Amino acid sequence: MQTDFNIIINGGGLAGNSLALALAHTSLTVGIVEPFPPANKQRSLLESRTIALSHGAKRIYEGMNIWSDFEPYCTPIQSIHVSDKGRFGMTRIHAKEQNMPALGYVMQIAEVNRILCEKLSTYANIHYVSPARILHAALVDERWQLSISQNEQTYDYCTDLLIAADGGDSPLRKIAGLSVDEKDYQQTAIVTSIQLTHSHNYTAYERFFDGGAIALLPVKDETMAVVVTVNNQLLSFWQGLSDGDFLAKLQHVFGYRLGRFAQVGSRTLYPLKLVTSPEQTAKQFVLMGNAAHILHPIAAQSFNLSLRDIAVLAEMLVNALNSGQSITEPSLLADYTDLRHRDQRRTIQFTDGLIEVFSSPFLALPRNIAMTGLDMIPPLKTMLGKYGAGTLGRLSRLARGLGI
Ligand SMILES: Cc1cc2nc3c(=O)[nH]c(=O)nc-3n(C[C@H](O)[C@H](O)[C@H](O)COP(=O)(O)OP(=O)(O)OC[C@H]3O[C@@H](n4cnc5c(N)ncnc54)[C@H](O)[C@@H]3O)c2cc1C
Repeated sequence: MQTDFNIIINGGGLAGNSLALALAHTSLTVGIVEPFPPANKQRSLLESRTIALSHGAKRIYEGMNIWSDFEPYCTPIQSIHVSDKGRFGMTRIHAKEQNMPALGYVMQIAEVNRILCEKLSTYANIHYVSPARILHAALVDERWQLSISQNEQTYDYCTDLLIAADGGDSPLRKIAGLSVDEKDYQQTAIVTSIQLTHSHNYTAYERFFDGGAIALLPVKDETMAVVVTVNNQLLSFWQGLSDGDFLAKLQHVFGYRLGRFAQVGSRTLYPLKLVTSPEQTAKQFVLMGNAAHILHPIAAQSFNLSLRDIAVLAEMLVNALNSGQSITEPSLLADYTDLRHRDQRRTIQFTDGLIEVFSSPFLALPRNIAMTGLDMIPPLKTMLGKYGAGTLGRLSRLARGLGI
């Protein structure tokens, strides 16, 4: 027996689940294949990874009618403070001067995914195939034929459109024969959380120092999510620090703007690379989320960019349905690639450029002058704010907070 879907999404992470939700109110049947059962255990704030969702991401989730479910779990970022340790440059961006309710929103990834999964379970046309894995996929007579292993049995599925949202190592991307370009930053992100003794006042901080950067994001209960990015030559030093020494080092680099750091959570390491896929689509096949591109976390853009990809693809699929066109029409995916090219290139160049500017000791003076200049020239700051918010250029309906 064969189970039939219009769309199969491989991977029920943030990208796969968000795309499924964007399509949930349509007549399309969507299967999500995920090897791990939804994690529904609650973690303490000090023990879980967070994500900063931009103002643009909020609008997209408003369009999907799920933002109000997120709201109780997210912490707004009212301002961002950027500085360079031991140098004069500093800039601060405020939500008010950007005419935004907040510059972004910090949420635990596990919480976002739990709420997405709960919402998806209320739609009859969305099916979770989990725990399960695609063993084999082939395009036969304009349909993808899949063998999927579930509970030690193998089942046959078929679908019109196949989406790989199965993460940076995307097994489906390899099956589809799509290549990636990689640039190794020779840097590692150390992710953790700290407890403060002072209020963070809903401010996020980015502080650069010789050999790295510290990003602090406000979370509830005076906790801050911490991402320390260090050059790999310094990694063994940072890794070797005890919790107390790690906290003292953070405090030394960051200073006492936020009072004394009281407690630190466990630390997780992420090697940092820029990964891009020259071809993000093949016949009746699309790469989505980390499977399509991975950016350095310095500007918190990676998933926010993916969400804009998702908004555009979902809108194009709905437009095709509404105009009686097939969702397998090759021009649809060609148009999707064209429409996404500019935003993807701009966001990748912006993030990559920040790494270059802030990693180079030779650029310390110009970058400090630039930060000071930025602080004094409001239109430039507005432009930077729009970059961060993901609200530059032509926006999809979802990105304008409208349903599709
Ligand atoms: C330190 C750090 C900080 C970050 N901060 C931010 C931020 O503030 N803002 C932002 O926008 N982005 C941020 N990012 C990026 C963001 O975390 C990712 O873009 C996002 O999590 C990617 O989601 P995804 O669903 O594409 O991939 P994943 O989260 O990797 O999900 C992939 C899914 O596929 C499943 N899977 C794996 N193998 C298979 C298989 N064989 N078959 C089926 N499914 C499979 C996995 O179980 C998982 O559920 C950060 C990244 C890092 C490393």
